[in-house]
Amino acid sequence: MTDFLLDLSANPHTRKFIAGAGLPIPMPEPLARARGPWEERPLADARVVVGSPAGATLDRVLGNALVTAGASVLLVGDASHLAAYHDAGEAYGRPVTAWGVETDPAAIKTHALVFDATGLRTVDELRGVYDFFHPWIGTLQRNGRIVVLARPASEARGAEGQAVAQALDGFVRSVAKEVGKRGASANLLYVERGAEDRLAPVLRFVLSRRSAFVTGHPLVISAGIRAAKAVPATRPLTGKVALVTGAARGIGAATAELLAGEGALVVCLDRPDDDAELAKVARRIGGKSLLLDVRDVDAPQRLAAALLAEYGGVDIVVHNAGVTRDKTLLRMKPELWDQTLDINLRAVVRMTEALLDGVIRDGGRIVCLSSIAGIAGNMGQTNYAASKAGIIGYVRGLAPTVAKRGIAVNAIAPGFIETRLTAAIPVMIREAARRLSALGQGGLPEDVGQAITFLASPGAHGLSGQILRVCGGALVGA
Ligand code: NAP
Repeated sequence: MTDFLLDLSANPHTRKFIAGAGLPIPMPEPLARARGPWEERPLADARVVVGSPAGATLDRVLGNALVTAGASVLLVGDASHLAAYHDAGEAYGRPVTAWGVETDPAAIKTHALVFDATGLRTVDELRGVYDFFHPWIGTLQRNGRIVVLARPASEARGAEGQAVAQALDGFVRSVAKEVGKRGASANLLYVERGAEDRLAPVLRFVLSRRSAFVTGHPLVISAGIRAAKAVPATRPLTGKVALVTGAARGIGAATAELLAGEGALVVCLDRPDDDAELAKVARRIGGKSLLLDVRDVDAPQRLAAALLAEYGGVDIVVHNAGVTRDKTLLRMKPELWDQTLDINLRAVVRMTEALLDGVIRDGGRIVCLSSIAGIAGNMGQTNYAASKAGIIGYVRGLAPTVAKRGIAVNAIAPGFIETRLTAAIPVMIREAARRLSALGQGGLPEDVGQAITFLASPGAHGLSGQILRVCGGALVGA
């Protein structure tokens, strides 16, 4: 399925012509996506400007994270913070420069703007957000990144502190909408006290090209689950066994390929009717195939038995299999309701319960597929939205109960992704769904696969019970 406007936009001549003629045609920016496996230095030589006002608390961890990822850091703000960045820069042979007042930011192009707002406590201090971003926002390149770091509202002192934490959310969502037309993203990372050492891998992800379709999003980084023993920067899934349901096509196939690319042995599951397609995917990625209808009453037991017998257990479970059976409630036959709820929610709950009983290994990762429809609701999708909202509730409910075992449970909520599922949508609705987002285009299966792969990695040990939208900043439900 092609996106006509995106194709036009990718051609510099047409782009110039349309802009020059002043035609009122939205021209989405083609997104820069990462290719190949995770790199040691995903930000190699990328210029990152860091705003570190008085009271900011993440200097050391931020300095280390950026420098080890290969970034060229320019520090703006309180001079007393330079020492922490300086130490990291010296250790990795990448000296961090402090911004001098004598030069004009307009002379510089930047890959990312990162603002450490952890020291902001009062409404007056919010002015620091404007003071940092106003002069620098114009320097952000196409496909650039904005990240704001803050303490969550739950840790704020008093109502004013909570107002400040929430104000940052409004700021990030809005700036994401402003920079989206340039293919750039803006995200907010709330870092709980005691979870600072889990920030770096999340920061790498949101600053890299692997998060191309994630924008306008707040995430909470916590120390709620047992820390991973090691957090490798490359080939993070070496030695892990991963299960992906619905792997014959679309998001599942893309995810299976990306997980395998990071070293996992991937067990690809799909319905027996999809034997040929599934075998192709499994062969291509050096994985295994498992034919099973997740709706079958004995599917959880058969799955658990197969994973134990063949691989001694499983480390990563991706509940991706899903269906839509759209009708308005008035016209919906009971079997359409049942099929959707059975496959999208009931099977997830039943299989997870069976696998948690001695099949998923400690330190494991569970990733469930929800949907923006589960957040915002959708006309003609009462069944689908109920199942996908149910996933959100399930993930939030399950996360604390498996935390002791170091198991993280998260959900991904994709927006409009170009797959068979969305190709079936009537053309006008499809076109509107693509454009009604900050990035003005649909995502690709690999965008969701990248987010799943990140959540499946050891470095995602700061995230559990979270819902990660991969929706290009959908204007509805974001
Ligand atoms: P897709 O292209 O239709 O692929 C889904 C796969 O799941 C198919 O191979 C399908 O097999 C399989 N499956 C369905 N029922 C199954 C069952 N009972 N047992 C085993 N496998 C089964 O869908 P997709 O677009 O990649 O979506 C993947 C997931 O993301 C779904 O959970 C979907 O709800 C969610 N999502 C997608 C979007 C989007 O824009 N594409 C947006 C939000 C959420 P058959 O072909 O044989 O049915």
